[in-house]
Amino acid sequence: MIDYSRGIRNPADFDETLSVVSANNGPYSDHIGDDGILRYSFREGDPVGGDNRKLRAALISKKPLILFQKPLPNVYVPVVPSFVVDEDVEHRFFLIASGEESWRSFTSGTADPEIDKRYVAQIVQRRVHQPVFRARVILAYSRTCAVCRLNHPELLDAAHIIADRDSGGIAHVTNGLALCKIHHAAFDNRILGISPDYIVHIDGGVLKEIDGPMLKHGIQEMEGISLTLPPKPADWPSREALAARFDQFTA
Ligand SMILES: [Zn+2]
Repeated sequence: MIDYSRGIRNPADFDETLSVVSANNGPYSDHIGDDGILRYSFREGDPVGGDNRKLRAALISKKPLILFQKPLPNVYVPVVPSFVVDEDVEHRFFLIASGEESWRSFTSGTADPEIDKRYVAQIVQRRVHQPVFRARVILAYSRTCAVCRLNHPELLDAAHIIADRDSGGIAHVTNGLALCKIHHAAFDNRILGISPDYIVHIDGGVLKEIDGPMLKHGIQEMEGISLTLPPKPADWPSREALAARFDQFTA
């Protein structure tokens, strides 16, 4: 589904583009604007023909395409459905929105464009940034839970240390932890806390409970263990963010 050399996949027997790859790494190439809409540069060569022709066909037919975000080398995160919603001939790029809602709100127009803009930006945050955040965090932790080392990506989440809705909740690896589903839920429900020295703490009441093997081995035995950190120190969780979160746990 990906054309690795050109970044745009136009199958010969398709009238419209099937997929585009966006590395999204700078203001002068492809980038997401403040309105949450991706600016995808015209392909080299003929602006009317060539690869641009099938993107323009997708704009006219309103058929969806697959947008692949590329947060790291050789990592492609699909964002579907995405739509070509407009083109900026002067600056030579197509505008690509992700999600049915953002496409509808962009193309239908509303009484208050400011509300619309925030809404679209929110949708894109969820559709584009979250999967990219997830890919970055899970890969930084070598696809293992930072607490129990469970090595099954399909059972892992990228947990935010400072919640996304808080101002400090930036979508950066240092605000994330790769946690299995159980430890993510335990972290969010203050059954499990992580101190800024990367030690795991279990709620005192839960430590006294008597139950089956999940409680005993999966939760209680995690008390006092050290977090399994990413190989690269630059990816380690922020001690400041952990301290703020740990205050909530001890409270
Ligand atoms: Zn775990």
